[in-house]
Amino acid sequence: MQALLRDARQCAVCTNTTTYTCVNPRMQVDSYDLDGRPYELSIIALPYWVQQCGTCRHCTADVRLVHPDARTIVKTTAYLAILNDTGYPFLAREYLAAAHLCRMIEHYADAGLHALRAAWKCEDMVHPMAGFCRTQAIQSFERALQQNQPVGSGTFDSAIIIGDICRRNGDSASALRYAQQAGLLATDDAQREIASQLLQATDAGIRTRIARSAATNEQRRSLRES
Ligand SMILES: [Zn+2]
Repeated sequence: MQALLRDARQCAVCTNTTTYTCVNPRMQVDSYDLDGRPYELSIIALPYWVQQCGTCRHCTADVRLVHPDARTIVKTTAYLAILNDTGYPFLAREYLAAAHLCRMIEHYADAGLHALRAAWKCEDMVHPMAGFCRTQAIQSFERALQQNQPVGSGTFDSAIIIGDICRRNGDSASALRYAQQAGLLATDDAQREIASQLLQATDAGIRTRIARSAATNEQRRSLRES
């Protein structure tokens, strides 16, 4: 199965039509990092989980879809400043602009995912702004939970994802708290093993990539559809 597809899409903000490279939503993913990154797939897919319209600079997961307020937000100084900030890799700027747009319309879980993907890009480049992107992802995900917006596939998954981002960010106290929370929320051996992985990683203070050694079918399906 092809991982990438080409698709002509009309921007819902300005009606410009462009052919984009898109990630095939039916791609199978066998393993994820603790923070939900489908690492092997993301090697080729990371540039294509965000689309920027070349005419109006609308950055989003799919330019065909838009919140009415986005038409105003993409013209603001704050939005354009993110896209023009050369202190970040180009792709990270697109994700951070998409994250900003989502925050402005209070779609905090989507904002967190965009910021997390900006962090992945920075991590791949060993770029110093990875920490800023992780912090933004954590803040957006925690705001999402406060607003009862789902992060990941449920409360267990959200604790693992946010906990691992905290771990990578060097915030071992928060990572430990989320790992303990995940341990209490785990409902089967597979989840207990994943919570244990985060707990042990927290204890060791390691800021490296950790693939989940086990995942339920529900988690796999949820992350695949995200
Ligand atoms: Zn546009």
